Amino acid sequence: MRFTTPDKPVDVAELFPELAGLARTAVRLHPRAGATTVRESSLGGPLLWPADEAWPVCEVDHPDPRPLTSAEGRELERRLVEAHRAVGASPHDAALYRAYQAVEADIRRVRRVEYADDPAARLPMVAIAQFYARDVPELPFPEGTDVCQVLWCPTDHDPHYAPLPRVWWRDASTVTAVATAPEPDRDLSEEEYLPTPCRIAPERVVEYPDWDDLPSDELRERISAWERGQEWRYRADLATAPGTKVGGWPDWIQSPVEPECDRGHRMVPLLTVASGEVGAWRTWLPVETRAEVAFQKEVRFATVDGGTGHTVIERDEVFDPAGFRIFGRAVVPESVEEELIPDYRTVPRGMDMMLGDVGNLYIFMCPHCPDRPVEVEFQCT
Ligand SMILES: [Zn+2]
Ligand SMILES: [Zn+2]
Repeated sequence: MRFTTPDKPVDVAELFPELAGLARTAVRLHPRAGATTVRESSLGGPLLWPADEAWPVCEVDHPDPRPLTSAEGRELERRLVEAHRAVGASPHDAALYRAYQAVEADIRRVRRVEYADDPAARLPMVAIAQFYARDVPELPFPEGTDVCQVLWCPTDHDPHYAPLPRVWWRDASTVTAVATAPEPDRDLSEEEYLPTPCRIAPERVVEYPDWDDLPSDELRERISAWERGQEWRYRADLATAPGTKVGGWPDWIQSPVEPECDRGHRMVPLLTVASGEVGAWRTWLPVETRAEVAFQKEVRFATVDGGTGHTVIERDEVFDPAGFRIFGRAVVPESVEEELIPDYRTVPRGMDMMLGDVGNLYIFMCPHCPDRPVEVEFQCT
């Protein structure tokens, strides 16, 4: 299946010429639940993983609520409570905080001894993405490689409370016998971080910087002035594509970050993994998806006591302000506005993950360093 993002209703680079040089191409992936093979690009699908290479496991200290049982462990846990109380009483005392971290580190050391065979200490990573160079040639494949594989550990990690991804680049021609992925550990994995396998349908779109990535306040002010009196919003409708995508400009939920590698190079977006694919639907929902999805009406209004409210009704339903009460309050009839919105229950199934509260996980990479170091940012509402 092909997906086509509609042409934009306005050309922002024509309205604001300084945006022209900031245009970037993003590859929207348009995931749809469905089976794929190791020889195809996919999201959450089977990987071309060599049979003679151990499947990756995550060995960081995952959150573990089980108590320690040794005398040393119990003493450390008692000291942790004390150290926590001390930090709480003097939150700006760096020495107290260091002491607290030292006790935590000791607890992790003892935990590794007490739970040496602990599956929580070696969680199998799960496949998130596989891209062949023929499908996503935009990726900076290191010399001699033509497959990019992204896996993540499907539970929460510091500091973002999010899955922890790793990226591999390999040469498909060197892989003959292919490994079978182990079953994820369903007890210790976060169910919402285990993707439904999806086919992808890469589509190139032009993006412009998200609001806080714009180069100046002066430009933001001119865009705000232009937005008054017309129906399109730069940030939601015109700048960055929602959903799971390669490259482009990040579709931030909170403030932007600009990661650098250890050698001081500015990193670029490799992959955004999104909790949902539908953003501002009028400009970003592909025409093919639009034909599949049912629509409803969102009705917004003011109430007689000066408040506001909204409700959702069926597309062919007529809203009667006189007969409607919200928490017992009547609606101001002249204030009623209606807008078509997709019925999310009818949006076709994608990776089916909920990252935090409708969050995005952003994987950045250094395109200059040959080993392509990565950084991760996670944001949610
Ligand atoms: Zn992990
Ligand atoms: Zn670098």
